[in-house]
Amino acid sequence: MKEHRIYNFNAGPAALPLPVLEEIQENFLNFAGSGMSITEISHRSKWFDAVIEDAIARTRRLLKLDDRFHVLFLQGGASLQFCMIPMNLLPEGKAADYVNTGTWSTKAIKEVKIQGKTVNVVASSEDRDFAYIPKNIPFNPDAAYVHITSNNTIKGTQWAEFPETGSVPIMADMSSDMMSRPFDPNPFGVIYAGAQKNIGPAGVCMVIIREDMLARVPQNLPTMLKYTTFSEKNSMFNTPPCFAVYTLQLVMKWLEETVGGLDKMAAINEKKAGMLYDFMDRSEFYRGTADTDSRSRMNVTFRLPSEALEQKFIQEATQAGFGGLKGHRSVGGCRASIYNATGIDAVSALVDFMKTFEKRNG
Ligand SMILES: *Cc1c(COP(=O)(O)O)cnc(C)c1O
Repeated sequence: MKEHRIYNFNAGPAALPLPVLEEIQENFLNFAGSGMSITEISHRSKWFDAVIEDAIARTRRLLKLDDRFHVLFLQGGASLQFCMIPMNLLPEGKAADYVNTGTWSTKAIKEVKIQGKTVNVVASSEDRDFAYIPKNIPFNPDAAYVHITSNNTIKGTQWAEFPETGSVPIMADMSSDMMSRPFDPNPFGVIYAGAQKNIGPAGVCMVIIREDMLARVPQNLPTMLKYTTFSEKNSMFNTPPCFAVYTLQLVMKWLEETVGGLDKMAAINEKKAGMLYDFMDRSEFYRGTADTDSRSRMNVTFRLPSEALEQKFIQEATQAGFGGLKGHRSVGGCRASIYNATGIDAVSALVDFMKTFEKRNG
């Protein structure tokens, strides 16, 4: 029941827009007059073809992608991209630049090393527990590419602006801030995002790859690990994750038609994050963990004066109808993930709850 839904601050899988869930529910038994559920139809049918084409067209419009960019839907999550990028796009004899801004970047770096390829970690914020995004990075002009994590889901930091890398393409893991703000796609060779944070359910990874990257793909890779396999067959070399792609399509439709595009979405996200950070900045009780200039607008990480109070906070918040506020198990503390689908009303209610909790326990 709609009235039993909680304020969902999950980090991923995370909240989806309510109108999207309602549209799925309404059409679940009979999709587009087919007499079948979306989960029962062929991926080669005209019905699914319309779904995937619309998902791609909307993605192109939202991100202002020109014809050089292919929009692909892959499986294996963002984690498979950590290995596919060096496998496909880092030629023998070349090296890649990686910026290490946290857990996910660290995992991406590891996958290059496993392949015996050369990775230069050109900057890292590990010295202060990944609380900031490095500046003035000495990128190598002859690197095959630069890899960054645009939003660090666990540490609560985000690139406010993307780095200047000249002609070196940027590969960006945008899993947790894809479609949260507009940006210039042209410097990017690959943009990838596990859908389950900000653009859909688990089971599909959106991969946007620039045409010139496809020329780098070696012939001798396993078929399912080659970008060209998917770019040549419009993501339907084999069965795509149909239900996840359908849900993603509806999220893109919501972004375009209900929200009104990424400028509008960014303004809302800025407002939500501002409400939490402004409140915490005025409080002695709650302390944000990220440096001010590196704060994430998607994952607001914070601490209370003690671990005991953090436990109490999470427990009472859960009872009051706020879910997902526990920090990642690797870092502890608290985290409010405020992705696109989490409304201003939810953030406002959370700030009120935090105020009351502070009064009672501060
Ligand atoms: C969650 C997350 C991942 C891992 O995504 P999977 O789809 O589970 O592989 C990678 N990068 C970032 C930034 C994430 O937030």
